[in-house]
Parts: sequence; C-alpha cells; structure tokens
Amino acid sequence: MPFKDRDQRLAYNQKYNKEIHYPKNREKYLKKSKVSRDRLRRIIKELKEESPCTDCGKFFPYYIMDFDHVYGEKRTEISRLLSMGYAEVLASELAKSELACCLCHRIRTHQRMLAAKQQVAAGQHAPTRAQA
Ligand SMILES: [Zn+2]
Repeated sequence: MPFKDRDQRLAYNQKYNKEIHYPKNREKYLKKSKVSRDRLRRIIKELKEESPCTDCGKFFPYYIMDFDHVYGEKRTEISRLLSMGYAEVLASELAKSELACCLCHRIRTHQRMLAAKQQVAAGQHAPTRAQA
C-alpha cells in the first residue's frame, strides 16, 4: 500500500513487518541468527587458541583463555556480546582487550585490586582499568 507521507509509510512497513512478515519468517530469522552466533563463537575460539597469553606467553585451550579489558571504557562483557551476536560491538570490545590465561588474568585482577586499595588509602581516587 503506497503512502506519499514518509512517516505513514514507515509506520505501515513497521506494522507489516512486526505483525505479518516476521511471524511468517520467524524460523528463518532464528536460524540465520544462530548461524551468525555460531560463526562468531568459532572465530573467538580460534582466536583464543591461536594466541599466546600476553603475560606468560604460553598457548592454552580456548576455555583457559580470557579477554582482559585493559583499554578505554568497557561497554559490556565479551561473552554477552557473543551470545547476542553483535559482531561490530564485539570487534570494538576485542580491540580494548588483551588475551590472558585464566591464571595470569587472576594475577592481573588481584594486582589491580591492590593498586586501587592503595590509592584509596592514600586519599586518591581508584584508578580506572586503563590507568592500572
Ligand atoms: Zn598466562
């Protein structure tokens, strides 16, 4: 149904997509979304297994490796972005991270916590991740 008015046309298309097109094609969209998420998971697994730990330099299975957010503001967890399938946001969050094995990641986190406590005790603001 053609509309000359842009807002009316957009409203009609939105209603059509929500009430008719999407319910009719729901399975196709769900399958497409799952394929996309599975692809991202595979890429992340490969990245974790092909990259050494930034701190100890050793290679580990993907489930041992963590992304440690070290640069800039953290928007959300990488695992959360992965499950939502947001490839572009995921790529920008990966760029702010370093890969570390779970042991080195714990050590880093502990050292950051100690540094933050020392700064608070000295009357300074706690450091951000980018400063730690
Ligand atoms: Zn390590």
